[in-house]
Amino acid sequence: MLTLIRNANLFAPAPLGLRDVLIADGRIAAIDSTIELSGSFLWEELDASGKILIPGLVDSLVHITGGGGEGGPHTRVPPMQLSQAVNAGVTTLIGALGTDSVSRSLEDLVAKARALSTEGISAYCHTGSYQVPVKTLTGSIERDLLLVDVMLGTGEIAVADNRSSQPTLEELKKIVAASRVGGMLSGKAGTVLIHMGDAPDQLTLLDALFASTDLPKRQLQVTHINRSAALFEKAIGFAQRGGYVDFTTSTGGLMKWGEVSCAEGLQRLLQEGVPVSQITFSSDGQASLPIFDAEGQVVGIGVGEISSLWQEVKRCVSQGMALEVVLPVVTSSPAKLLGLSQKGVLATGKDADLLLLNDDLSIDGVMARGRWLKQNGVLQVKGTFES
Ligand code: ZN
Repeated sequence: MLTLIRNANLFAPAPLGLRDVLIADGRIAAIDSTIELSGSFLWEELDASGKILIPGLVDSLVHITGGGGEGGPHTRVPPMQLSQAVNAGVTTLIGALGTDSVSRSLEDLVAKARALSTEGISAYCHTGSYQVPVKTLTGSIERDLLLVDVMLGTGEIAVADNRSSQPTLEELKKIVAASRVGGMLSGKAGTVLIHMGDAPDQLTLLDALFASTDLPKRQLQVTHINRSAALFEKAIGFAQRGGYVDFTTSTGGLMKWGEVSCAEGLQRLLQEGVPVSQITFSSDGQASLPIFDAEGQVVGIGVGEISSLWQEVKRCVSQGMALEVVLPVVTSSPAKLLGLSQKGVLATGKDADLLLLNDDLSIDGVMARGRWLKQNGVLQVKGTFES
């Protein structure tokens, strides 16, 4: 079945104006000002006048098997369901383990990524967890990347955090080098996702890594850079020197405890001359989130929402940023960094992962690999065990 989307206001993410888009066999077959079809074959035609068409979102950190557990076993967060990603407009995601690599496993992570891909989106994962030495599936980072199709890189490796293994510079060098070589051998990016914590040494270890090796900056994606104003200020310099930085979108509720808003932070980085290709947003979905009382005491525990990814993009736009300026951080920038060449852009030959948006940027339609998962605001497909 072919699908012809007519007259959509296309952001690829660059703004292309009104366009027709033809989808065949899960990919974009053509984009043009007018596409005419004739013949005896069947096609579905959709008038997208008044609608905005953008690439499906790429979320580079989701705890798809559930994160948390740091307040005891009853605080282990449940796994993510397909509908959560679809309703959030996420058509590509990267799963990762966090603090817990004892009751959580890479076997489970790989199986969950495969399950989500079978159910409809494109799901990948990283090997490892917060812990160093890195726990792997097949014995080494290189073997995991080369032998396990859905594994793209390594992480989250935690640094500057009381929950980390306090890795040394030498240990970190070995991890990043192994991920780089594993990436080379497997034709993947081999990115190492670094979880930045609250400790005062901040980015010191990462600066030392790049000062003492010739490892390229794009080998690291450093997340949670907006967790405090002090860390964010350091992250600006790190990004100006070529580093790749990632904002966490699901922790917006912590702003009164010092978190930098994604909108404010993105504007600042762009003003400071950091190319948008070095900036990503990720949801940290299904992580556990502390709930504080007025005095800052932890009184409960919540769950990071994958839907925060698009909410923060909308917040950027509501604060005056142009859609095409913000869109790369949730589409082309993470896709490129993670080596997902079929994702994050709308162009001929790319995967037909796309979102149809209403005027107010609410999500009307979600297509993943040519199949509608949501249409007219209604879910068309649910996860295997979702009612
Ligand atoms: Zn983290």
